[in-house]
Amino acid sequence: MHEMGIATEIVRIVIESIPADLSDPRVERINLKVGKLAAVVPQSLNFCFEVAARQTPVEGAELHIEVIPVLAVCNDCQHRWTIEAPVFRCPQCDSGSLEVLSGRELDIESIELAEDG
Ligand SMILES: [Zn+2]
Repeated sequence: MHEMGIATEIVRIVIESIPADLSDPRVERINLKVGKLAAVVPQSLNFCFEVAARQTPVEGAELHIEVIPVLAVCNDCQHRWTIEAPVFRCPQCDSGSLEVLSGRELDIESIELAEDG
C-alpha cells in the first residue's frame, strides 16, 4: 500500500501549481496518468486522495486515472510490443533482453480549476 504517499504527493503538487492570484481556488478535476507497472490500485488511490485532500483547496476534486500500458522493446531484434501478461520475453525472437519503454510513469497530466461564479 503505497497509494497514501502518492496521494499526499499529488495534493502537494496540485496546491503548488494553483496560481497565487486566485482568491478562492477550487480544483475541479485532476487528470493523472499511471503506468501499469507503477502498481497503483486506482480505487485505493482514489480513496487515499479523498483523505489527503481534506481541508485543502483540492478537496472534492475528481481524480481521473488513466492507466498506461507497458510498452517494451527487444534489445536483439528491436521488436516493440505491449506486455499484457507478466512474461518479459520477446514474442518475435524469444529473447529475454528487453527494455521497458513505458508503464512505470505516474504523471499529473493536467489540473482543471473551477470557474469563478
Ligand atoms: Zn526480439
